[in-house]
Amino acid sequence: MKTHVKALVVGGGAVGTSIAYHLAKAGWQDVMLLERDELTSGSTWHAAGLLPLFNMSFATTHIHQYSVEFYKTLEEETGLNAGFAVVGNLRMAQTKERMDEYMVYATTAETCGVPYEFLTPDEIKARWPLINTETLEGALYHHTDGYINPADVTMAMAKGARQRGVEIVRRLQADAFEWNGTHWDVTCTKMVEKGGNLVASEEQVVITAEHVVTASGNHAQRTAKMLGIKIPAIPVEHQFIVTDVDPALQQWRKDGNPEHPVIRDADAQSYVREERGGWILGVYEKNAPAVFEYGVPDSFRADLFPLDLERIEDQYMAMIHRIPSCEESGLKDDFNGPICYTPDGNPLVGPAPGLRNMWLAEGFSFGITAAGGTGYYLAQMMVEGEAEIDMASLDPKRYGNWMTTEFAARKNEECYDHVYILHHPDEERPACRPLRTAPAYDRQKARGAQFGFVNGWERPNYYGPLDAPDNFDHDSRSFRRGGWWQHAVDEAKAIREGVGLIDATAFTKHVVKGPGATAFLDWFTCNKLPKVGRINLTYALTPAGTTRTEYTIVRNGENDYYLVSAGAWTAYDADYLRKCAEDKAGEFGYIEIQDVTTQWGVFAIAGPKSRDVLKAVIKDADPATALSNKRFPWLSARQIELGMCPVNAIRVAYTGELGWELHHPMEMQNYLFDLLEKAGEPHGMKLVGARAQNWLRQEKSYRAFGNELGRDATPAEADLPRFIDLSKDFQGKAEMEAKGIRSKCVTLLIDGPEDADPWGREALYDGDTKIGRLTSGGYSVHFGKSIGMGYVKPELANVGTKLKVRMLNRLWDAEIVEDSPYDPKNATIRVDG
Ligand SMILES: Cc1cc2nc3c(=O)[nH]c(=O)nc-3n(C[C@H](O)[C@H](O)[C@H](O)COP(=O)(O)OP(=O)(O)OC[C@H]3O[C@@H](n4cnc5c(N)ncnc54)[C@H](O)[C@@H]3O)c2cc1C
Repeated sequence: MKTHVKALVVGGGAVGTSIAYHLAKAGWQDVMLLERDELTSGSTWHAAGLLPLFNMSFATTHIHQYSVEFYKTLEEETGLNAGFAVVGNLRMAQTKERMDEYMVYATTAETCGVPYEFLTPDEIKARWPLINTETLEGALYHHTDGYINPADVTMAMAKGARQRGVEIVRRLQADAFEWNGTHWDVTCTKMVEKGGNLVASEEQVVITAEHVVTASGNHAQRTAKMLGIKIPAIPVEHQFIVTDVDPALQQWRKDGNPEHPVIRDADAQSYVREERGGWILGVYEKNAPAVFEYGVPDSFRADLFPLDLERIEDQYMAMIHRIPSCEESGLKDDFNGPICYTPDGNPLVGPAPGLRNMWLAEGFSFGITAAGGTGYYLAQMMVEGEAEIDMASLDPKRYGNWMTTEFAARKNEECYDHVYILHHPDEERPACRPLRTAPAYDRQKARGAQFGFVNGWERPNYYGPLDAPDNFDHDSRSFRRGGWWQHAVDEAKAIREGVGLIDATAFTKHVVKGPGATAFLDWFTCNKLPKVGRINLTYALTPAGTTRTEYTIVRNGENDYYLVSAGAWTAYDADYLRKCAEDKAGEFGYIEIQDVTTQWGVFAIAGPKSRDVLKAVIKDADPATALSNKRFPWLSARQIELGMCPVNAIRVAYTGELGWELHHPMEMQNYLFDLLEKAGEPHGMKLVGARAQNWLRQEKSYRAFGNELGRDATPAEADLPRFIDLSKDFQGKAEMEAKGIRSKCVTLLIDGPEDADPWGREALYDGDTKIGRLTSGGYSVHFGKSIGMGYVKPELANVGTKLKVRMLNRLWDAEIVEDSPYDPKNATIRVDG
């Protein structure tokens, strides 16, 4: 057995095995995989093996799609048949709203090249007469996926890995990790069988690895403890049952008919597939409990929990309704096993927070489906520095240190429970809320705020009616324009025509200072650094030249900077900033970094009357000129006093109107809120939420992180040349230039359906040819129609190009417009007074 390797993968389930395989395939020699028990002895052995392509996330769809294609190649490579039955997948809808959901998400599948078709109940009946189509509105059918044998596919990947030089060691448990500057020393214990139990022996070995990947499945909590980090991956119980043979089904097959597709009855929270003449019924039921919150007990191996039939009774009855012929089939087998979840249902894939060369691949609830693609894209990240798709939505650092075991467990239960709810794009999930609230939360709530969940924070999405019932927001949601839409329109208009106040407290804020700060930030970001008292918009790039983070940088002193970035990404941004600064401190000198996110609240006041509101409360020798262009020009920062509140004000507005961001001490937030509210009253100031702001920024073509900005495109491709200083050297510059312009960000005005706007996930067409996708979407109050931003092939990225957008299963006219179609000269932003 080797004791020095390039990469050590911990965990021999489907995920770890695929990662080892793909690292070897990507060219790394000396890859080793450790498994404490037997390969597949974690969740992998008892999975139902379904491979659903249909997914709401762009990254996850790509991952699943890679898996499905890859699994088809394994037999030829390894000689092992993984039992891939490409039977297709039939997602049935019992309501019109469910059909709307399928139409919205089908367009995401389309952007990733996943084929699909819509079927009417009659078409379903004609193809699969055993299905009772009563109560169905229709279905979405994709024929390229199906199911696979999870153990067989893992063994095939293991064989393929061995053929490529990977050493797989079973019965060896990783027990301690120590980073020694250039490598990890991983202390491992040989595991032995004793009376049916797996126990640690006295025998230990230290393996030296340049890189470590953990894919420890249900053992993620133990892994987290060993690494000294938090991993919100906690399993939930998941059940499926297998019925005896169904004579009607047997006859159907005897008559030479093909196998049924996987039948998903989302409105009945279940999936069904054929299994040896009978059926498998898998269920996402209510009240499935989280398990192993503090770790897997030593006594638990490839075990199952007892079946809880009562919990799945409704779904069982629903199956009988949908496939009446199964009524007489008895119960043959049952599985109730731990299935790992995360609070948002996405796995945690990428660099571990705070650690070097430590990669996580944890928290998989669709791990059989995701294993292939995860291995492929994670290997790209490790070997080449970056994956070809943006993996940010799966990054382990999307949860900060505020995350606790109790939060993860309850949120994971909710996530399981929500697998088959209607996934409105404007969905907000209720569990564990409110948790992170800024002081003004109660005041905002009292004024009708309907909150969104951003990195744990409560942030107003919009302000509903004052007498709104508790379920107002829930009932407002829609795949079209929801009940909240008009409120957001009113708020957006208030900012364009009068004045509005937005809570932006969730913003990520870092102080970067010290003798090395200037040289470091100059290298770390692509725009010129601002002069003292000024601000700049700039981007930190990945070493591959793509966009890692968008920053507003305020220069408070020669070597003293205040960095503002997106609220959802605090730990993600902090980690990169710190690691890069540590790497460069030797070259540039001491750099101090403080995460001050929770110390500073932020209100953004914007609109033509915003200056008048501030003038009424600013304390200054000459209040009349304190906010004038001369004393407080656009893109500058000043320390001002509003009443008794010291405020670091920045003259910038993400809405594209005259405005200021008011960064204030968190503990004075309520004082400032009351002061501004009172001062705003004579000017009709409106409280405004994030949804209106999101629309307004699209009218100005302001890119958003996670939408237009991400690790799959360079700032040049995001078409931001004015924020890139090519005369200086910066991290990722050469790589950005080498990439050229593969696709380009544009803004579009869209003549869409009367009752719907795009969500920012739709496919774009030139005639019949798919040529790009939207990354943002919404409604423009200025133009009175839908608006969106997205990426298209560079040769099409010209003002006036007519394209089509797929919405609600139809193509609608769209036209590329100049950047910042609202007020392109920034006249309203610069207005003096
Ligand atoms: C009833 C049920 C049905 C399911 N159906 C499906 C389905 O149809 N489709 C689908 O995609 N997914 C399904 N899943 C989910 C799927 O089983 C998991 O997502 C997947 O198996 C996770 O794979 P993994 O490799 O991450 O984890 P695991 O398979 O749990 O593997 C982790 C491995 O790591 C080992 N390990 C842990 N710690 C250490 C250590 N310190 N040292 C050495 N080894 C260690 C463990 O022994 C284990 O073998 C289902 C799950 C359940 C419970």
